[in-house]
This record gives sequence, structure tokens and C-alpha cells, in this order.
Amino acid sequence: MKVELICVGTEILLGNIVNTNAAYLAEKCAGLGLSCYFQTVVGDNEERLSQALETAIGRSDIVILSGGLGPTEDDLTKETAAKVCGRPLYLHEPSKKAIERFFADRGTEPTENNWKQAMLPQGAIVMENHNGTAPGAIIETESARVILLPGPPNELYPMFEEGAAPYLASLNSQALSSTTVKICGVGESKAETMVKDLIDSQTNPTIATYAKTGEVHIRVTASGEDKKSAAKLIKPVVKELKARFGNHVYTTEEAVTLEKSVADLLLANALTITCAESCTGGLLSARLVNVPGISEVYKFGMVTYSNKAKRRFLGVKKSTLRKAGAVSEKTAEEMAKGAALESKADVAVAVTGIAGPDGGTPEKPVGLVYIACYVKGKITVKKCQFSGNRDKIRESAVSAALTLTRSCVLEYFSKVTFGKKES
Ligand code: ATP
Ligand code: MG
Repeated sequence: MKVELICVGTEILLGNIVNTNAAYLAEKCAGLGLSCYFQTVVGDNEERLSQALETAIGRSDIVILSGGLGPTEDDLTKETAAKVCGRPLYLHEPSKKAIERFFADRGTEPTENNWKQAMLPQGAIVMENHNGTAPGAIIETESARVILLPGPPNELYPMFEEGAAPYLASLNSQALSSTTVKICGVGESKAETMVKDLIDSQTNPTIATYAKTGEVHIRVTASGEDKKSAAKLIKPVVKELKARFGNHVYTTEEAVTLEKSVADLLLANALTITCAESCTGGLLSARLVNVPGISEVYKFGMVTYSNKAKRRFLGVKKSTLRKAGAVSEKTAEEMAKGAALESKADVAVAVTGIAGPDGGTPEKPVGLVYIACYVKGKITVKKCQFSGNRDKIRESAVSAALTLTRSCVLEYFSKVTFGKKES
């Protein structure tokens, strides 16, 4: 089935807000096995919205609209959709009561224009809004199904999950199942090359790669008569991907992030960790502290931005800074060693680099980052060259630091387990 998105709002057209609803809805629809070929943004204008909606209905089975369900004059999505679909509006009593309740719960009064939100297209399926006053609606016509959702993401997401997603799933007689294989330490193009034969030869399940900062996610999706048979089709493909990428696969669980996989590894082995950061300015610590329960192993970290701070708090040698420079293998190594010594942590990760936009030289260009990881006495240093703006370089450095930490800890344990631990 073909789905199409129309996001309504002059604010989006002007670039005042980012169209995150489109990204959210597109991803959700793909997950439901719906093909999305068109996305439109249209301002708060009845004529142009009518045109966009008529076009969408003409070529897609399902049209999802976001925004313009509010109480004010410029909110005209529902009125326009009702007109285009030939469904007059009527006062939907349960929605009127819900609006009364919404205001009573907050100890405030509705304004006259709020009642406009209880007017719904004849015959529409109504979706309740637990986070605002605008109900959503699904209009079923001969040619298409038109789904109206509120603009604010905190209202749209739950309404989609609770109302629209089950409705859309019920239209599809096939059940879908998907698993995401999350990979770190392998670049996007290499990862794609490694699975190209699988992508080309499979139709069910389908395999798609998604590049994230410092990671690649490979989504395997299968359809079957029921969830169980769909899941069965996925298993051998996931097994094959694990065989191809080995230790680079950090999880196949939806909820596990790279930082969580690192945290779990530390927690499971009771290894404490510290971070000494220069160009990432605490972002690495922040990623780790995203993980609930990290306090068991993360006690302390440092942002040592200046040379003076690197010397004073981490014991980086003056001669190292003078000869090799602050962005160098030797400085990263001494930072990690110093952080381990200072904190007595089992694992110490240090990051030093040039995030730009200034400060680059031909020998040390913007994006050059050294990451050092100390695990119980053994130090590994990695030289990275990232591209992009300052934010992107810093985020890439954090992902690379997490990836290096993970591989160093795994390596340490493989040596311990097989009795070949280096002294
Ligand atoms: P309201 O009752 O707030 O007026 P609405 O359903 O009429 O809700 P809009 O007026 O279109 O929705 O948008 C309200 C707010 O929702 C916007 O200011 C913006 O913050 C957010 N929003 C709307 N559309 C989008 C979108 N496509 N992506 C992200 N945020 C959006
Ligand atoms: Mg509005």
C-alpha cells in the first residue's frame, strides 16, 4: 500500500521549525511495511492544501496529514479535508466532553474557538488526544484513507502509536517483523559493500542499511502470515550478518544504544571508567551518563581543554605538549594514563582533537582526533580523521571513543579468558 505525507504549516515552509513529524511518520510507515513515495509541505492556505490533498488522494492509498488541527482561524486542515472528502462537519459530543475535561483538569476555561476542535467530519473514526485538545480523525473514502493528526510532536506521536498505527496495521493482511543489527567500527560504504549481495538477492526479508554518526544500522524486515512466521524468516539473515560483521555487531536490540552496550560491558565485568576530554568537552561523559545505572562504574571525569589543565590534572608532560603538540598520539596516551592514575578507574578514555572551524594546519587538519583507551594498564591509541562541521566532528569523536572503548575491553577479556593476558 502507498502512503503519502502532507505536513501543514507556514512555519515549516519558512524554515522556522524543522519538519521532524515527517521524519517520524516516514520511519513509522516504513516499519509498518507501507511505501511512501511523496511528502509535501504546504502552508496554512485552504486552496493550496486542497490541491495538495486532491493530488495525494489521486495517487496514494493513504494520506497522513500533520498540523493545523488547532483552535485558531489559521488552523484549517480538518475543514479543508472534510470539504475535499465531501464529509460535512458535525459536533462530536465525546470530543466536546473531552475538551471540557481537559480544561477542568487544568483549572482553566476553554475559549469559544476550542469548540471548533470538537467538530469532526461525518463518518470519521475519531482518535482521542490525551495530551491536547484536538482530536485526530480517519476519513475513509472510496479512493483513499485520510488521516488527520495534530502538529505538536508530543500530541502526534502518542496519537499515531495508539490510534493510527494499529489502524494501519489492520489494513495490512500480512504481519511484519523487523530486527536492526547495529554495527560500530565499520564505515558506511564498507558495510554496504559487505552486504550488497544479500540486499540484491533478498525480497523477503528486505535488508536496508542506515548510516548513523559512527555507526551503521542494518534493518532486516520480513512479512508473513503472522508475526511468528515473519520473525522466522529474519533469523537466518541476522545470523549471516552477525557472521559477516563479527564483534562489530554491538546489539540487535531496538532499545540498546552504543553507549548502553559499552555501559553493559563495564557493569557486567565490574570495570570502572573515567573520561579525560579536550575537544569533546564532556560529550563523551554525557553519552555514558545517558545510561541509567552507570553510577556503579562511572564516578568521575574531566574536561581538560587547555594545555595547562592537561598538565596540571592529567600530568601530561610539558615536553610532550611542546614537541608533539596537544593533538597528538603521545598527548592522548598521557591523558588516558593520567586520568587512570588520578581516578584509579580500570578504564580511562582520552580524546584530543581539532574540532574547527579554525586551528587546522596542513599537518594537523581540522577533524584530526586522537583517542586513547587505557584498560588495566594497556593503552591503545587511535588516530581518526573526521569531516563535517564542529558539531559533527565532536559527535563522531564521541562515537569513535565509545567504539574504541568497547573493542579494547572486549580484547582485554578475550585475553583474560584464553589465559594469554599480557602483563
Ligand atoms: P495547535 O493546537 O498547537 O495549533 P496544530 O495541530 O494546529 O496544533 P500547528 O499549528 O500546525 O498544529 O503546529 C503547532 C506546533 O506544532 C508548531 O508550532 C510546531 O511547534 C509543532 N509542529 C507542527 N508541525 C510540525 C512538524 N511537521 N514537525 C515538527 N513540529 C511541528
Ligand atoms: Mg495550530
